[in-house]
Amino acid sequence: MSGTIDTPDADWMRRALGLAEQAARRGEVPVGAVLVRHSGSGDELVGQGGNAVIGSADPTAHAEINALRDAAARLGNYRLPDTTLYVTLEPCMMCAGALVHARVKRLVFGAREPLTGAVVSHVQALESPTHNHHVEVSEGVLAGECAALMQRFFRERRKKGRADVGPWMKTGLNRQQLSANKRSDG
Ligand SMILES: [Zn+2]
Repeated sequence: MSGTIDTPDADWMRRALGLAEQAARRGEVPVGAVLVRHSGSGDELVGQGGNAVIGSADPTAHAEINALRDAAARLGNYRLPDTTLYVTLEPCMMCAGALVHARVKRLVFGAREPLTGAVVSHVQALESPTHNHHVEVSEGVLAGECAALMQRFFRERRKKGRADVGPWMKTGLNRQQLSANKRSDG
């Protein structure tokens, strides 16, 4: 399941990581995605996107959706068969659903999203027997780098006093709160 450093998967994931870093610089949760089309002449990038929910004031502007929209507009087709979506973080329910609608062949994600991940963590949305399209899934490609980007982002955010640090810092926070509570209990 886990990717080694020099596979094509890792190369495409590195590109998605670059888009995630750009999102972080815009103050968005750092998630990036690229869509790659496979054909006889090789693999080609047909869409890319970073998380942009704040900047575009759009709750659906996740990296995956933006990459799918980019590709669909470019190819003039709402269906995107023979493609692989690379995304730095495990997709949510909305994005998992969009992959099925778009008929994406394969999903490759980096880090798991323990709270809202809808592929393996929270629910397994792609395993529904009612779907008439099956998406192949690989996970763990550059997972350490993808998770580190999230942790860095939320660490900075916590320094600025923001409480919405998500699951990435929560364990640490809870432990601190627990020990603080114990201390005050005497
Ligand atoms: Zn999503």
